[in-house]
Amino acid sequence: MSTVDSSVRCPQCGRWACQTFDCKVSSWDIGCNHCGYSHYMGPTYTSDGQLKEKWIDEVLPGYGVIAIQSPGPLAVVTILRCSSEQEFVRCLAHFDQIREPYLWAQVTKWNAERRENEIVRSYLEDGHTAPNLYPCDEEEASEEDFNNNEEGDAP
Ligand SMILES: [Zn+2]
Repeated sequence: MSTVDSSVRCPQCGRWACQTFDCKVSSWDIGCNHCGYSHYMGPTYTSDGQLKEKWIDEVLPGYGVIAIQSPGPLAVVTILRCSSEQEFVRCLAHFDQIREPYLWAQVTKWNAERRENEIVRSYLEDGHTAPNLYPCDEEEASEEDFNNNEEGDAP
């Protein structure tokens, strides 16, 4: 299975989100690690992972994101995008019960009124560097640099 990944502006919060096209099943999705927004167009699957013929076009609003990086050689980052307050509260309760050590964790919540992502919880193990969940934000900075250079070179 191969996928094509790129970046797109999140329709909800305006930050960079991940966009993935799965070549095998022709599904497409956007997932925002800032606010939790997601949009999926593609086939549905049975609970045991079998492909169904039914296709869906589903938009889930972002309510919040819980991200945790576990220790170990792979330092896997788990990201939970929550689309409702109920789901967010349930995931946050699980997060608060974690007793295993982890390297890094961040919980953000979308504030629709102020139209910004707020950091609810944040943890970084001493001596560890936080993973970059938002690689495209660096591209955004590069775009700004590029634009600034262009302006500088203009007559
Ligand atoms: Zn977003």
